[in-house]
Amino acid sequence: MNEFDLIRKYFTRPAPNTLLGIGDDAALLQVGTGNVLAVSSDMLVSGTHFLPDTDPFLLGHKTLAVNLSDIAAMGATPRWATLAIALPEADEAWLEKFSAGFFALAQQHGVDLVGGDTTRGPLNLCVTIFGEVPAQQALRRSGAQPGDEVWVSGTLGDAALALAHLQGRIELSGEELATCAQVLHQPQPRVALGLALRGIASSAIDISDGLLADLGHILEASRAGAQIDLASLPVSLAMQPHAATPPGMQCILSGGDDYELCFTAPGARHAEITAIGSRLSLRLSCIGNIVAGNGCIVHDAAGNQLNPGSGGYEHFR
Ligand SMILES: [Mg+2]
Repeated sequence: MNEFDLIRKYFTRPAPNTLLGIGDDAALLQVGTGNVLAVSSDMLVSGTHFLPDTDPFLLGHKTLAVNLSDIAAMGATPRWATLAIALPEADEAWLEKFSAGFFALAQQHGVDLVGGDTTRGPLNLCVTIFGEVPAQQALRRSGAQPGDEVWVSGTLGDAALALAHLQGRIELSGEELATCAQVLHQPQPRVALGLALRGIASSAIDISDGLLADLGHILEASRAGAQIDLASLPVSLAMQPHAATPPGMQCILSGGDDYELCFTAPGARHAEITAIGSRLSLRLSCIGNIVAGNGCIVHDAAGNQLNPGSGGYEHFR
């Protein structure tokens, strides 16, 4: 099977939202009047981001999900994606499942695949995603103000907890592992939340490298500090028995791969945000406040100050 057959068979689908999709030298994309493009790339490398024997359907899902998460964090509507893929061999059973996982999520979010590249090499998956947002409504990292509240969606640390179990650092029950592995392998990008937060959130980021690291990016860009209340951090039923242990706490504060949103908003918007959570059936938790200064201080229930460090996952540390 040559490259063109492979693209035709596995990666060419109708692209109803696209002026000109796969098949020419480049795609043509029409952006709505007054909108700007939000563009982001994420690469998944075998052995670094996933194990070589990962279920290809789930991998197809996750490859797109991590990119959708960045678009969600900008408050943009996802529209188009390109996929560059290096494969050790043209394994048709693998490609069938991978593309099924990818397109199932693409269809759910109205994303057209409009181009890309395939080549032989160590397994490596790179998506570039394009979203649309009115120029003034994009959710940047730089808008947090002292007095704003800090919020997170969903629960924290589940993906890292599953990984800790798989690597033998913690022991989960079968039920706990099932819940957490779902988050690790099939994260749900918070696109609807990002859109709902336009005009409400003062800043936003997706939690890919852990709460403290990603909130740290907001604080740095906004030149502000934060005070976080440990007891208010949302944890799943699976996490609860482990939350007070050092590895559990490490997962909650610094575990990567959750793809929830962390955002800030003025206290006056508190009730609106709670209503958004109800409408989307999504847990939204207020976890602290933005303060003048820099860095993030975490308090436990007794009022003691923790010094957890930033602790997120960094590739070149
Ligand atoms: Mg991000």
